[in-house]
Amino acid sequence: MIAKISIRWRIQIWQTLLLSVIVTLLVVFLYQKEKERSQYEVDRDLGQRVVDMMRLLPHVKQMHGTPETKRDSANQGGRRGRAHPKGGRRPRHGGEGRPKPGRGADRHGERSIPEGARNSREVNEETIKNPDYYVAVWTKNKLSLNVRFPEGRVAPDFTPSPAGVYQTRGNYREVIGGAPSENKVLIGYNMEKMNQELAALAWSLSGGGVCIVIVGFILGWLATGWAVKPISEINEVASEIADGKLAERIDIKRPSKEIASLQRELNQTFSALEKAMEHQKKFTSDASHELRNPLAAMMLEIEVTLASGVDDDETRESLYVCKRNLTEMSSMVQGLLALARLDEGQVEAGPEIAAVDEIILETVERLQPMAEEAGVEIHTELEPMKVEIVTAHVHQIVDNLLTNALKYGKAGKKVIVALSGNKDTGIEIVVQDFGAGIAAEDLDEIFERFYRADTARPQQDGSSGIGLAIVKGFVESSGGSISVTSEVGEGATFRVKLPC
Ligand code: ADP
Repeated sequence: MIAKISIRWRIQIWQTLLLSVIVTLLVVFLYQKEKERSQYEVDRDLGQRVVDMMRLLPHVKQMHGTPETKRDSANQGGRRGRAHPKGGRRPRHGGEGRPKPGRGADRHGERSIPEGARNSREVNEETIKNPDYYVAVWTKNKLSLNVRFPEGRVAPDFTPSPAGVYQTRGNYREVIGGAPSENKVLIGYNMEKMNQELAALAWSLSGGGVCIVIVGFILGWLATGWAVKPISEINEVASEIADGKLAERIDIKRPSKEIASLQRELNQTFSALEKAMEHQKKFTSDASHELRNPLAAMMLEIEVTLASGVDDDETRESLYVCKRNLTEMSSMVQGLLALARLDEGQVEAGPEIAAVDEIILETVERLQPMAEEAGVEIHTELEPMKVEIVTAHVHQIVDNLLTNALKYGKAGKKVIVALSGNKDTGIEIVVQDFGAGIAAEDLDEIFERFYRADTARPQQDGSSGIGLAIVKGFVESSGGSISVTSEVGEGATFRVKLPC
């Protein structure tokens, strides 16, 4: 089974998955850290504010009146608070927002508040004015100060501890300080802005993470491309060799230990293959050459003997059978020689200006006796055409295709030979018969050497399986192409396109 995904994609997918997991974990970790830090800062700030508030509670109450009047004054204070840059102090920025000692203390305060508590007073004022906070004070479990404390809300459960009680209600973070029987102070902070900033941070971190994954993907793609390049090169060379370019070799440029030894081994294998193929071609060529003369001599002997008159019928019949077989052998040897020459790239003759229609007519006339014997009528549709072409190739191509059409055609049906085209587009020769046809699974194979499609069909005279291989060899050596269409029982149509 051939894998559908390349090595490069496999590595790429795993690498991207791994990178995505690492980046996701990193993003979650950074976000959590930042969230914890912000929460810690809010709690620290609230804790400090509660302490400040506890220290100067009587003064705060005196300064800000009764619970009823407080809401109004606080709201006004909130509006006034807008005069502060960025709407007041932000807990996230730690103690930076806390007023500096001695700054902003009013004239009355200087007289009534101990020296060390001035800073606390400023903080208290800031807490009361800043609309991001709300404050509530209970004296002996009775609400005695209310600054923006949500209406109708009762005092939260209170468990005293040295660090106070921290709790989150929706968007608000609250801390309560004091003793159960004495004053209780609650300060709440609206975390909406902080949550928005955290959400924005989450988006930025996610965006950054996606960018890292994309960049990682691109760099990974380039890196894997570089890593698998030697394999692609091996693949390309192997394809070239499979296409018959046996002289191709793998270029060992950047040898990595494993790949270089594989490349060397493959190059040695390709060299051995090329040598073997050359031996085989040479053997075919030499054998065909060597066989030609004895076959011609035997043929001559038989013809001379027959011509001198053989009285015995049986002997004469045997001589005719020998002559027929010798003719077949000669044509096969001729074919093998032609293939060997094609393999060696030898060209027997160059192109010449010739009337292609006349070349085809000559072949048709030569094969007329065979057509009559097969009971087939050859029908020609030839456009008169003079072009520069290798005439020997056209002869051989038409001869082989027409011989097949007569051999595999049906008695009583016709065979059509057509020629069309022009000097610019090249010529097209079509040979069509209406005989047995070729099965679909054989269509790709019939141009292979020694391939005979229907093994059940009794072997026809002169059937060797190299006729179409020779046609294909000639057509392709002339820069043309051959194709076939067929349906079993309907016949076959061969189309040859040749450039001029
Ligand atoms: P052969 O000498 O056997 O004809 P070819 O190479 O010319 O060798 O043809 C190969 C095979 O293709 C033949 O054996 C035959 O089965 C099939 N073939 C070729 N031409 C035709 C045709 N016109 N109709 C049907 N089958 C054909």
